Amino acid sequence: MSESSSSPATLVAIPSGTDFRDDDEPPSPTTPRSRRHPAWSDISDAEWNDWRWQAQHAVRHAKQLVELLSFSPDEIRAIQSLEAQYKLAIPPYYFSLIDPEDRLDPIRLQSVPSPLELLGAVGAEEEDPLDEDKDSPVPGLTHRYPDRALLVTTHVCTMYCRFCTRKRATMKRGGWDSVSRDDRRMVEYIAGHPEIHDVIISGGDPLTLPIEKLAFFVENLTAIPHLDVIRIGTRVPVTLPQRLDDDEVVELLAESGKIWIQTHFNHPREVTPEADRACKKLRMGGMPINNHAVLLKGVNDSLETQRDLCRALLRIKVRPYYLFHCDPVTGAGHFRTPVWKGIEIIEGLRGHISGLGVPTYVVDAPRGGGKIPLGPNYLLSASNDSVVLRNYEGMIIHYHPTGDAPGPASSVETQGVSALLEGQAEVLVPEGNPRLRRRALKAAKANGSNGNGHHSNGDGASH
Ligand SMILES: *Cc1c(COP(=O)(O)O)cnc(C)c1O
Ligand code: SF4
Repeated sequence: MSESSSSPATLVAIPSGTDFRDDDEPPSPTTPRSRRHPAWSDISDAEWNDWRWQAQHAVRHAKQLVELLSFSPDEIRAIQSLEAQYKLAIPPYYFSLIDPEDRLDPIRLQSVPSPLELLGAVGAEEEDPLDEDKDSPVPGLTHRYPDRALLVTTHVCTMYCRFCTRKRATMKRGGWDSVSRDDRRMVEYIAGHPEIHDVIISGGDPLTLPIEKLAFFVENLTAIPHLDVIRIGTRVPVTLPQRLDDDEVVELLAESGKIWIQTHFNHPREVTPEADRACKKLRMGGMPINNHAVLLKGVNDSLETQRDLCRALLRIKVRPYYLFHCDPVTGAGHFRTPVWKGIEIIEGLRGHISGLGVPTYVVDAPRGGGKIPLGPNYLLSASNDSVVLRNYEGMIIHYHPTGDAPGPASSVETQGVSALLEGQAEVLVPEGNPRLRRRALKAAKANGSNGNGHHSNGDGASH
């Protein structure tokens, strides 16, 4: 878990006579790592840490699930019938992050099928909620925004997220047929469109591609001069971090020089020592890492969880980039929150935690409208020459953006925000503001020591 990642690194003594240790030794027993589900307690560390072993031993069948976690008879019937419709895959590493005692565990909710998926449309859920296929000039490529394009390069993921926006291609059995692709034409389209400067290699998870196929995309796209940025959209650092112990993958990506990683942590418990090490590898290869989280009911729809997540991400140097409102995808209605929940969360983040840790909350609009940022309002009112703003503390401030001297105060009878606009006050401060209490204390101390009677008005209007 994340607390162990903040403990000081163990210092390894260098035996005399050698300058460097061989790095093919097994990890020392003090390497921090996550717990394992008892079902895999006999597995050797070498196997456990091997991504191939993890991928091959992913939980893929309802009958395995039933042995590993407890379910009600109704749930068992539901997950058996869901099995026919949707793929299931949970690598033992990710599975072990589930608390087996907690039926509402946030890792379990993301990865284990739920009877609620069978409810059908709760509201307006659709197969392709973002109309990606309609904005697709070449099979597999979505060109929606002026200077960037998105490539669906595979339908395979290391773990199938039950709320996946693209589950029509990824999680649905045979779903790939509905989103075909043509790798060469996708690359040719980008080469032929100099207005495209940024390409997202997505899927599915492109880090599940055979290395030759990944190299095909990375090398051909890197060679296109008008491409400045190539993003890899991957949940591998979260669900199969062992994959990044494969130097071949990291070197391929690092050599490009254009790669940015776009990953997908949804809960602070996913920020493990293993995920930390995987991200470090990517960073050492010169790749900045940004996070997309999805706002999910029961998983991360509280301010507390989101603060913990954003802070945990900063500790592993992953920048929270977007917080997505959950898309109306078929069988994921039970994950959707009201839009107000996202606004409430941003209200509690912006100003309250490091600005580096505050994502942009976005709703991906239907009909291919794309991402629309939403958040609390900070502009409260306005006049010809001024605006009234409020900050995260609830302080309301009359601001003159052009720097012109404010005109004389109007004598009209008014109050509140209007009084600010009429020049009768400059600021309204909520009672008990801790920052202004600190200011008042400082002023009182200064008064006590020099005794000149000068005092601050404590309203914060003078900087
Ligand atoms: C999200 C998305 C992008 C990238 O958008 P940014 O705001 O630049 O991160 C590009 N194309 C499609 C189709 C997308 O959905
Ligand atoms: S990793 Fe991404 S593409 Fe794959 S199932 Fe999860 S959300 Fe969908």
